[in-house]
Amino acid sequence: MLFSLIEKIENEEHKVLRSSIRKFVETKIAPISSKIDKDDYFPIDIFKEMGDLGFTGILIPEEYGGIGEDIISAVIVLEEIARESPALSLSLLAHNVLCAYPIVKYGNEEQKSYYLPKLARAELIGGLAYSEPNAGSDAEAITTKAIYKEGYFYISGSKNFITNGPIADILLTYARTGKEGKDGISCFIFDTKTEGFYVSKKLDKLGMRGSPTALLYFDNAKVQESKLLGKINEGYYMVVKGFEIERITISAISTGIALRCLEVMVKYSKERIAFNRPISEYQLIQEKIARIASKLETIRTYLYLVSKYYDPNKDNRVSASTLKYLSGKLGVEAGLEAIQTLGGYGYTKDYIVEKLMRDAKLNDIGAGTTEMMILQLAKMVYKHFK
Ligand SMILES: Cc1cc2nc3c(=O)[nH]c(=O)nc-3n(C[C@H](O)[C@H](O)[C@H](O)COP(=O)(O)OP(=O)(O)OC[C@H]3O[C@@H](n4cnc5c(N)ncnc54)[C@H](O)[C@@H]3O)c2cc1C
Repeated sequence: MLFSLIEKIENEEHKVLRSSIRKFVETKIAPISSKIDKDDYFPIDIFKEMGDLGFTGILIPEEYGGIGEDIISAVIVLEEIARESPALSLSLLAHNVLCAYPIVKYGNEEQKSYYLPKLARAELIGGLAYSEPNAGSDAEAITTKAIYKEGYFYISGSKNFITNGPIADILLTYARTGKEGKDGISCFIFDTKTEGFYVSKKLDKLGMRGSPTALLYFDNAKVQESKLLGKINEGYYMVVKGFEIERITISAISTGIALRCLEVMVKYSKERIAFNRPISEYQLIQEKIARIASKLETIRTYLYLVSKYYDPNKDNRVSASTLKYLSGKLGVEAGLEAIQTLGGYGYTKDYIVEKLMRDAKLNDIGAGTTEMMILQLAKMVYKHFK
C-alpha cells in the first residue's frame, strides 16, 4: 500500500479533518477551479466559507478560535486544497502560516486576542510583506524604512511579490528600524486601510493564478507603536525562523500537486488505447508512474514525519530545506510527466495537469529558491561532518 506510514502517523482527528476538507474541495472548489486559474479569480466567498468551517483556523490555538497549532492538520488542509487549486492553497498558507502563526508566536496578549479570532474566522485576510523589488534571496538587503516619532512608526518603501497583497486586510510588514544588515529590521502588523498604502500593481503570473500577488508601495504610512510584533530590530530572526514552518507547509502544496498528477496519470493510462492496448501496459508509461510514485512515497512520508516531530525550540533548517528542495522539484516533474502521459490532451486546458505543472513551478522559487535551499543544505552538511 502506498503511504502506509502516513496512515499510521495520522490520528482519528486527522482522518476526519481530511475527509471534511476533501468534501469541501469537491463540492465548493472543484466546480470553480478552472475559473480561478483562467480568470485569475480569487473566490473571496469560498475563503470566507472556509472561515465558517474552521479551515482558516489552522495553526491558531483553540483558545483564539482556531483548530490548534498541530502542523499535520495544516499539511492536510493545504495538501487537499492543492489537489484541486494550488493557488487557493497558497493564499491560505499566506493567511495562516505567514500571518497568523507569527502572531501566535510573537504577539502580546492584546495583539493575539484582537487579531487571531478574526483571522481564524477569515473576518480579516492576512499576508506577509518582506520581499522587495531589489531584495529577494538576499533578505538582509531590504531598504523599506520605519521611522519612529512620538508613538508612531512611519513606513516608506516598496514590497514585491506579496501573496494576498491586493486583498489583505493586514500584512505583517518588515521594515528597517535600525542599522544595515540583519540586526536593524522590525515587523509590524500593518492595516492596509492606512493612508499612504498603495497596491501599485497586481502581477500577471505563469501559475498560481487566482492567488493574487502584488507590488506594494508605502508612502510614510503611519503605524501605532503598539502594532510592533516581537522585539524591535529582531524581525529578521523572526522571518528566518518562520521559514522553517513555511517551507514544511509549502511542501504540502507540492505533494498535493504530485498526488493529483499521479491519480490522473493512472486513470488516463488505463483508459487510453494505443496499438490495441491501454497505454498502462507499456513499460515506458509504467516507469513514469513508478518514478513519480516512489518519489512521492518518500517525500510525502518525510513531510508527515517532520510535521509530527517538529519542535519550534530546535533548529529545523535541515529538514525544512530538504523538504522544500525535494518537493519543489517533484511537483514540477510530476506535472511534466503527467502532461507527457496524456500526450496532446495533457497539453490542453481540458485536463488539470497543465495548470498543476504551471502552479508547481512557484515552489521552486517562493519561500526561498531551490538554489538557496541547496546552498543552505551544503553549509549544514559541511558543518555536520566538520
Ligand atoms: C507567486 C509568488 C508569491 C510570493 N509571495 C511572497 C509573499 O507573500 N511575501 C514575500 O515577502 N515574498 C513573496 N514572494 C517572493 C519570493 O520569496 C522571492 O521571489 C524569492 O525569495 C526569490 O527572490 P527574487 O525573486 O528576488 O529572486 P533573486 O533573489 O533575485 O534570485 C534570482 C535568481 O538568482 C539565484 N540566486 C540568488 N542568490 C544566489 C546565490 N547566492 N547563489 C546562487 N544563486 C543565487 C536565485 O536562486 C534565482 O534563481 C513570492 C514570490 C512569488 C513568485
